[in-house]
Amino acid sequence: MALLELLKGTLARRLASRLLYRRQSCRTKLPSYNGARASHSSAAGSAVRSQASVGAELSGFKVMEVHDISEMQLTAVRLQHVLTGAQYLHVAKDEPNNVFCIGFRTTPLDSTGVPHILEHTVLCGSNKYPVRDPFFKMLNRSLSTFMNAMTGSDYTIYPFSTQNPADFRNLMSVYLDAVFKPNLSELDFCQEGWRLEHSDVNDRNSPLEFKGVVFNEMKGVFADSQNLFMQKLQNGLLPSHTYGVVSGGYPLDIPKLSWAQLKRFHKHHYHPSNARIFTYGDQNLLEHLEFINENYLQHYSKVEPHTEVPDEPRWSMPQADHIHCGVDSLAAADAQNSIAVSYLLTDVTDIFECFVLSVLCELLIGGPNAPFYKSLLEPKFGSSFSPATGYSGHTRNTSFTIGLQGTKYELQEDILSAIETTFDKARKEGFPQERIDAVLHTIELGLKHQTPNFGIGLAMNLAPFWNQDGNPIESLKVNESVDKLKKSLKDNPKFFQDKINQYFVKNKHKYTLTMSPKPDFEELLKESEAELLRSRINNLTEEGKDKIFELGKTLVEKQNAVEDISCLPTLETANISRKVEPIPISELLLSDGVPVQICSQPTNDVAYFHAVLDAQCVPQELMPLVPLLCDILTKMGAGELDFRQFDQEAELRTGGLSVGAHLQQDLQNYNVEKGVMFSSYCLQQNLPKMLSLWEKVINELNLYNIDRFSTLVKIIAAEESNSVVQKGHGFAMQSAAASTSMYGAIREQWSGLSFVTRMKDLADTDNLKPTLLKLSELAFILLGKKNLRVAMNVSPQHTDASIKELEVFLNSLEGTPTPYETHPTIDSSQFTPHTQRTHHVFPFPVNYTGQALAGVPYRHADAGPLRVMGRLMVPYLHREIREKGGAYGGGISVSPGGPIAFYSYRDPNSRQTFDAFRRALDWVLNGEFTERNVEEAKLGVFQSVDAPVGPGSRGMRYFLSRVTDSIFEHHRQNILDTDSQDIIRVARTHVADSLIEGACLIGPPNEEIVNDPLWTTVQH
Ligand SMILES: [Zn+2]
Repeated sequence: MALLELLKGTLARRLASRLLYRRQSCRTKLPSYNGARASHSSAAGSAVRSQASVGAELSGFKVMEVHDISEMQLTAVRLQHVLTGAQYLHVAKDEPNNVFCIGFRTTPLDSTGVPHILEHTVLCGSNKYPVRDPFFKMLNRSLSTFMNAMTGSDYTIYPFSTQNPADFRNLMSVYLDAVFKPNLSELDFCQEGWRLEHSDVNDRNSPLEFKGVVFNEMKGVFADSQNLFMQKLQNGLLPSHTYGVVSGGYPLDIPKLSWAQLKRFHKHHYHPSNARIFTYGDQNLLEHLEFINENYLQHYSKVEPHTEVPDEPRWSMPQADHIHCGVDSLAAADAQNSIAVSYLLTDVTDIFECFVLSVLCELLIGGPNAPFYKSLLEPKFGSSFSPATGYSGHTRNTSFTIGLQGTKYELQEDILSAIETTFDKARKEGFPQERIDAVLHTIELGLKHQTPNFGIGLAMNLAPFWNQDGNPIESLKVNESVDKLKKSLKDNPKFFQDKINQYFVKNKHKYTLTMSPKPDFEELLKESEAELLRSRINNLTEEGKDKIFELGKTLVEKQNAVEDISCLPTLETANISRKVEPIPISELLLSDGVPVQICSQPTNDVAYFHAVLDAQCVPQELMPLVPLLCDILTKMGAGELDFRQFDQEAELRTGGLSVGAHLQQDLQNYNVEKGVMFSSYCLQQNLPKMLSLWEKVINELNLYNIDRFSTLVKIIAAEESNSVVQKGHGFAMQSAAASTSMYGAIREQWSGLSFVTRMKDLADTDNLKPTLLKLSELAFILLGKKNLRVAMNVSPQHTDASIKELEVFLNSLEGTPTPYETHPTIDSSQFTPHTQRTHHVFPFPVNYTGQALAGVPYRHADAGPLRVMGRLMVPYLHREIREKGGAYGGGISVSPGGPIAFYSYRDPNSRQTFDAFRRALDWVLNGEFTERNVEEAKLGVFQSVDAPVGPGSRGMRYFLSRVTDSIFEHHRQNILDTDSQDIIRVARTHVADSLIEGACLIGPPNEEIVNDPLWTTVQH
């Protein structure tokens, strides 16, 4: 059951990631902390109960079921549209961050990417909103907290969330019009899907090439060999129907799709009879139903969509395959193979069986106590689990995958036999009760831990299950499944062992995939694309060539045209309050002076703990090791607990103990506070146990197990190396910012490409002892209460008891506390900003670019105007880099009190993109924007400024960066009061006239840049 993934939050990373093509995968959302909300009784639940009784007809919808789900504090109503059969689920909850999602079952039978291109194209303009890309334009006319569209293997969903009721209606109207009445023009198809176009659209003699947003997006997706591997695994395990093809589109198959086929696919799949609509939150269900019925659904009649996915025919023999991928220059040359075995399990609509299997799979692979961790990772058969490892409930028949990446070719047989042996051993021995308890505890805690994106998570996690006609209300009854599982285990102590036998040991439907690197892999891909291009060109008539030339020009004209978008609904900045609702915080000193912040919140009896350890006392030469120490701190064991016992205890009592680097630029200057941050949460009754685990980490860390350390180094290095292709634009921005400020420099050292490279080198070294010794030295200097400060969020009735428990914890720590005011920050005068342009050469088919400036501190009078300036440029950059340039994404990120950075993502261009950054700046400097643009930019900024914050994180803005409510209120007003003149002035002072800038290009060898003396080239 996919729902488990949502509940497990911190464990979600261990579960298989799914093949999902997101429209907006690089929308930068900055963390923000605003506004406490009082708890109220279940008003939304009672309201919906008074409106919807089973059997009643409401605006053309019949109420099928109403259920209170007490474990999630919500009331769920399932309805069906009488005329069309459209399905509807409303989840009433006292939660202002309301969600809307409409989805369709989209089951392609080829790899042209038709559902994915359709997902892009429907958002390009519709009957009521006939403007270019209304979806993107609404990003600037709304206070949405989430807006996206995603194509899965067998469904396409369009979700958004917002806290503002008027905004909800606006966005719902745009989304519904997009999916039911899209324009689907040929130009939109060519722009978003694929087209042949001259490299210079105005020059008939320039060479023709393939262009298109999805075409480039998918080239980028498959440049990541992890995606390639996951895609092939799914295709191989479920070959008979829609899962046997690539729903996102295989680059060389995309040009087989015609505009007419796209329109047919829409007509067939985007019908109300094939639709599922989801709403969530405290808004009025009746108003939603009325709007949807009157404007759309009542104009349709019922059809039989025939989009069902058949049950996969079971195999009588296991299958295997081998594929190639590109060479990864960041991994050891002889250990770049991947291997995985996938098992077909059961029908996704069998709720209890899927629940059991997801728990079982977690027992098999989750954490250092799991059998597969011991049998595959610890013997170092590979660097880490392969992509897709874990339980997957995203297809009609669910599956489990176990595998490794970063392996040597000659180890394949050993690995396969280790997998068999592990299942066999687990079947014979079962699992210790405490591990089962730990997984069940994680579920219980997940139900209580509230996050502001719970509704969006619910929409996305229900989608694959509901899409296969499972009853979504039944799947919400988690406690029923938990009770049933407990009973099954009581009745049959070998319950899990029997399942292992049935689904793994005896299962003939299993698929083994191996993947090995091939030096000319990229070359061959390029050649196949060139070959396809040649054959297309050869088949062109003169008339066809004329059409291509004209189409190219028309597209640019359309992209450049200034259009009237007043038909789109919008919010106004007048809707935004100038006041900030204060967050009640009390500050005290405990245990001889440790600064403690307490924030009483309706946390549902969950206790949240945060601590920052100042790292200013760390000597310079140990500084680069801080992020590695963070990564291993809670994974090595502490006190009497070895690493396995420690993990067991953490899983049994907490939601996981996490450690990360803390970096904060001063609010008034460029000095930097750096440190290490601890975060964890637990059920209130486990607070003493959770604090005692932290006490062990701080007082009695075990850093002597070199074997354990070596396992962790390999895993971290593999994860870091994989992340470059996934978030290349983030790395490009960090690298670009490194020369511009001290903050940028440290951030690059701690989490940029330099860290990735250091980890790769470390993973390649035989002797890890010197590093471990240095880490011990670092831990000795850092850990203790000398430079510690703590924040805790707890329910009001537990505040006093929690403070007492905190005091016991702090008293047990070594060191003498120093007042926070005296914690020094690093003086920025130790750093000389300079201009630097670096090209990091990687064997990728696309580029990632970044260009950065230092920005201003948070309390600087220009901080607000700079944020508005950044947001103002976003639509311009989107048009230049994505629509015209064919990149998957591009934009600018202005951190509040931090660097300014332009970026592009999966970009076929390099130099031209840097020119586009400059043009965006000129556009601002010349004042070519309108007052309306400024208004929209402010709305856009407030989406992040006022993003909802869960009860466990309220008050963190002050704790981490010393931004009080009044400083925050001032910053918000600074943004609201920004006018056009301010924007032009700050763009001139802090961007155009800045003498220092950094630039970075991550991508393949580049002739233009290699010959440019201003650039430094680094080979990877
Ligand atoms: Zn896409």
